[in-house]
Amino acid sequence: MHAVSDPVSFDDTAVAFAHRSDADLNRAYRIYQLINNRPLTWLGTRLTPWAIQAGLPVKGLLRSTLFRLFCGGETLQECEEVIHRLSRFGVYTILDYGVEAKQREDEFDRTTDSILDAIRFAAPLSHVPFVSIKITGICRFALLEKRHAGVALSPEEQQEWQRVNDRLLRICMAAQQHRIGVMVDAEESWIQDPIDELADQMMQRFNRSSAVVLNTFQLYRHDRLAFLRRSFEAAQQGGYVLGAKLVRGAYMEKERRRAARLGYASPIQPDKAACDRDFDEAIRFCLHRLSAVFLCVASHNEKSNLLATQLARQLRYPADHPHLWFSQLFGMSDNITFNLTHAGFRAAKYLPYGPVAEVVPYLMRRAQENTSVAGMSSRELLLLRRERQRRKKSDRHAAVS
Ligand SMILES: Cc1cc2nc3c(=O)[nH]c(=O)nc-3n(C[C@H](O)[C@H](O)[C@H](O)COP(=O)(O)OP(=O)(O)OC[C@H]3O[C@@H](n4cnc5c(N)ncnc54)[C@H](O)[C@@H]3O)c2cc1C
Repeated sequence: MHAVSDPVSFDDTAVAFAHRSDADLNRAYRIYQLINNRPLTWLGTRLTPWAIQAGLPVKGLLRSTLFRLFCGGETLQECEEVIHRLSRFGVYTILDYGVEAKQREDEFDRTTDSILDAIRFAAPLSHVPFVSIKITGICRFALLEKRHAGVALSPEEQQEWQRVNDRLLRICMAAQQHRIGVMVDAEESWIQDPIDELADQMMQRFNRSSAVVLNTFQLYRHDRLAFLRRSFEAAQQGGYVLGAKLVRGAYMEKERRRAARLGYASPIQPDKAACDRDFDEAIRFCLHRLSAVFLCVASHNEKSNLLATQLARQLRYPADHPHLWFSQLFGMSDNITFNLTHAGFRAAKYLPYGPVAEVVPYLMRRAQENTSVAGMSSRELLLLRRERQRRKKSDRHAAVS
């Protein structure tokens, strides 16, 4: 049992980047400098998907830059080095098979097999407690859309839906057998109801004593705090543990654009403050019920992570309570992940992997969210710069003394 040290600080760059050699730190710094260039990122995120599709030789460049910074490798075996490096510092890994937006049944079956491979791969590794899954990786988007809209499915579509259920069931059964958790990602609001339905069914079946399955709650939606409360009530009544991964949400612009185009009220909160308020309230809600909720705070927001650590302390939970997890994306917010781990909490990196060409959409999202805001350096760039300066100073100090 690890007592919560207080206050947790996310400022210690020596802890944050101890896993990076000087060469590795400098490489990350140079890549973030490129991403920070707004016009370059604007152009790159538009041209790269096109160049990949056109078969232009850009994969090598992508592999040595964004892919290397944000992904574990093309295969599970290639991820092993990263997993071991993180585990040496006590950081866990969540395997995220990064292939997105498939259309055909054979592709859905292949994704299912890849996730099953990931579960078997993770089983003997003490520092890989979860895999993640996007339901759009095992189900046609249009089918989810139709089910969400409450449109009756044809007999063929009903069979198709049954096959989706079967795929997820196989994944959860394997996960339970190998003692691995499954995090079901949240996606666009117009396909989310059937994703919630699937996650709820699996939680009901597999979360009897602790959580095998976690659903994801996007607090940038104004209706999700109420949905979290309803999900908790349903879990209480159904006698199962609620698995709750809390995120703010990744599709804000797309959501707003669609709502405006089709003329319905946007599901997104009116402003960032409202989103932050609900996210933090969701943390409080879950932490106050930790014996019945398995919580993963999935955020790069320092205030929200700090709130969770402070409340955990007030409620006298051990930092390594088995129902309390934190997670950040690989290549981002190492200051949060590594300092949380240093303070005794369970923190994990979401580690995407897969063929370079397939993870392009993911890489483009990461590049966009890390570019400069109004000419300012991104937070990642500032942290890397501080650590480079700190190392230079301590080298000079060592040379003098
Ligand atoms: C481990 C992990 C797993 C994730 N899984 C998912 C997932 O399954 N599904 C998913 O959708 N996302 C997922 N995300 C991404 C996440 O939703 C956020 O996009 C991202 O983490 C940024 O939010 P933040 O809490 O880190 O921090 P912050 O930087 O504090 O918040 C930025 C976020 O706030 C919200 N926001 C910004 N401006 C406004 C505004 N004006 N009004 C309302 N809201 C606003 C947006 O969601 C934006 O992304 C995941 C993130 C992590 C770290």
